[in-house]
Amino acid sequence: MTDHQREFGVAPDGAWSAPGRVNLIGEHTDYNEGFVLPLALPHSAVATVTARADRTLRLRSRDVGDRVVELSLDRLVPGEVPGWAAYPAGVAWALEGAGHRLRGADIHFASDVPTGAGLSSSAALEVVTALAFSDLNELGLTAPELARIGQLAENDFVGMPCGILDQMASASCVEGHVFHLDTRDLGGRQVPFDMAAEGLRLLVVDTRVKHAHADGAYGRRRAECEAGAAALGVPFLRDVPFDGLEAALARIDDEAVRRRVRHVVTEDRRVARVVALLDAGRAREIGPLLTEGHVSLRDDFEVSCPELDLAVDTANAAGALGSRMTGGGFGGSAIALVPEESVAAVGKAVTDAFAGAGLAAPRIFEAIPAPGARRLPV
Ligand code: ADP
Ligand code: MG
Repeated sequence: MTDHQREFGVAPDGAWSAPGRVNLIGEHTDYNEGFVLPLALPHSAVATVTARADRTLRLRSRDVGDRVVELSLDRLVPGEVPGWAAYPAGVAWALEGAGHRLRGADIHFASDVPTGAGLSSSAALEVVTALAFSDLNELGLTAPELARIGQLAENDFVGMPCGILDQMASASCVEGHVFHLDTRDLGGRQVPFDMAAEGLRLLVVDTRVKHAHADGAYGRRRAECEAGAAALGVPFLRDVPFDGLEAALARIDDEAVRRRVRHVVTEDRRVARVVALLDAGRAREIGPLLTEGHVSLRDDFEVSCPELDLAVDTANAAGALGSRMTGGGFGGSAIALVPEESVAAVGKAVTDAFAGAGLAAPRIFEAIPAPGARRLPV
């Protein structure tokens, strides 16, 4: 008997899965309508779902204790569902708000995406819920529509002002590829990323730290970017051309805003350069751009932290071609592009450095570009 049957007393109608992600480059660009380059992780959230005849929603996560959360689709109010259930409940709320009348459902979640590690466990939960509802209610939603629903749930129901990167990555990524996404129109292209062919590995270092006030700082960065765009008279920082950056910076009085703008504009440029190198089959050469991106996030955008800097600096010193924090920052994970022969040395150096600094052991694993959200065969 499956967990779902044990919990709800019925067999599921189907099973769906949506992955976590790492972002190869393009950080804090999504809410500036810029460019990102994520890949899906093999880690994913799986939802098994039984549709109901009434308007009740029963939610259970294997990963957070044994309580079933029971809600009514007729009484979903932003901010009033505590804890983890706000993510799937918010998706139902967003779908109903978009005019879709849903059947009730019993949903069991099981996820192996580490939570709070900057690997988008929240987006995995949202996207898997949105896809399951779409299929069971025959809504036929596209990947961008699923992502928008997930983002709306997180922004307005949970209350986290995230951009669209995480949900689009989870909904749209393709095995063996990175997704070159234009967050302005949600158009994109899957770019082949065959690391093995070039003798490369992408390591993820989950520092296991999450610093307090990260959400507040995220909101402040967004506001600073909006202030920069306003000072320059453009809708979003995406509209500041790289060639005009110096002139644009000279027109901004506030020193902090000036540095935020410099990060976003140079980061969009780095995404384009990484994509050009990958298209040319020169993945080994993207390393310095990854590290440059980290330095920009550390010094100009000021969203790194000592643990992420330690992971990046140590990985690079031990043989990585380049490394950077990934995700929103203030903790979470870093990535390192490493030649196969240096994987063990880099892993050991980072583990030793954390032990030497009196930090908890980081979790280190390999990121192999995995598929995006999908219905699973049962
Ligand atoms: P990240 O998305 O980087 O992992 P967030 O803070 O955005 O970090 O989201 C983490 C939250 O998502 C958790 O605190 C929890 O509320 C929810 N969540 C993620 N995975 C699960 C899960 N398997 N079961 C229940 N809740 C989950
Ligand atoms: Mg998240």
